Amino acid sequence: MIKNEIAKNLTAIKKELKTAQLIAVSKYSPVEDVITAYKSLHYDFGENRVLDLKEKAEAFVEEGLNKVHWHFIGHLQSNKVRELFKIPNLYAIHSVDSLSLLEELIKRENDFVGSELKIFFQVNTSHETEKSGFETAEELNRAIDLLMSRTHSKLKFYGLMTMGSIRTTEFEIEATRCFRDLNLIARNLEKVHGLKENLKLSMGMSQDYKLAIDAGSDFVRIGSAIFKSHIT
Ligand SMILES: *Cc1c(COP(=O)(O)O)cnc(C)c1O
Repeated sequence: MIKNEIAKNLTAIKKELKTAQLIAVSKYSPVEDVITAYKSLHYDFGENRVLDLKEKAEAFVEEGLNKVHWHFIGHLQSNKVRELFKIPNLYAIHSVDSLSLLEELIKRENDFVGSELKIFFQVNTSHETEKSGFETAEELNRAIDLLMSRTHSKLKFYGLMTMGSIRTTEFEIEATRCFRDLNLIARNLEKVHGLKENLKLSMGMSQDYKLAIDAGSDFVRIGSAIFKSHIT
C-alpha cells in the first residue's frame, strides 16, 4: 500500500477517537505496511493469529522497533498459549473467551517473557453462535474471581472486549445495543468485585467504531479502514 495513505488514514481516524485509544489491526497487512505505520509514530497493533504475530513481532525486534505494543485479538487455542507467551512486546490479550483458556494462561504464566500482560475477557453480547466469548455472568464471575485471587500474577485483569452484531440489517441499532451492554456489564462488575480502577472497554471496528466511542469505548480495533486502500 502507498505509504502516505496509511499515515493519512491513521491521522483521520485519530481525530474521531475522543479519549479512546487506537489499535491498528494489521492482520491483513504485510510487515512493511506495519512498519510504515510505526514510523508515522503509531505503536499499538492487533493480530488475530499467533503465527502471524510471531513473524511480525520478530521482524520488529530485528529492525530495533521496540516501542511497539502487540495486542492479541483473535480466538486463542490452548495449545498455542506457550508460543504466544514467547512473543516479544506482547502487551494485551483481548480475547480470553472461556474459563478453561484462562486456566491455561495461568498454568503457562511463567513462559511469558514480559513483566505484565493485560487481560480482557471477551463477552458475546450479540449472542451470535459464530462468535466466541463468555455467555453467562456466572462463568465470567468465576473467571474474574480466579484471576483476581492471584496477587503476584503477571496477568492483570484489565477489561472487557466485545464485537458488534454483523448478521443484521439494522446493524447500527444492534451494534449500539452490544456496546451499551458491555458498558453496563463492566460498571456492574466493578461494583460486584470492588475494583479500584475502571475496567477498559475494547469495542469498535472499521464499520462501527464511531458507535462504540459514543457508547464509551476505550480501545477501538481498526484494520481495513487503515490498511486497505480505498482505491482498489
Ligand atoms: C479483524 C478484526 C478487527 C478489525 O476489523 P476491521 O473491520 O478490518 O476494522 C477487530 N477486531 C477483531 C477481533 C478482528 O478480528
